[in-house]
Amino acid sequence: MHIVVDTDRCVGGGQCVMAAPEIFDQNDDDGTVVLLRADPPPDASAAVREAARLCPALAITLVEEEQ
Ligand code: SF4
Repeated sequence: MHIVVDTDRCVGGGQCVMAAPEIFDQNDDDGTVVLLRADPPPDASAAVREAARLCPALAITLVEEEQ
């Protein structure tokens, strides 16, 4: 899985950070998302999917890689 975030769409609510704090952080200035790990480990997949589902701005795109 590869993660792409669109900081232009992000509204800074932080739901992604609460769902997957090892993967997402927030900018100290405006609260927009900071992607810590674009290629998360397999055991973080469920939390990352939850973060993408919760994002109110649809700013998180998940690219599934071929096995
Ligand atoms: S949940 Fe979406 S809108 Fe909220 S901080 Fe994360 S990326 Fe931005």
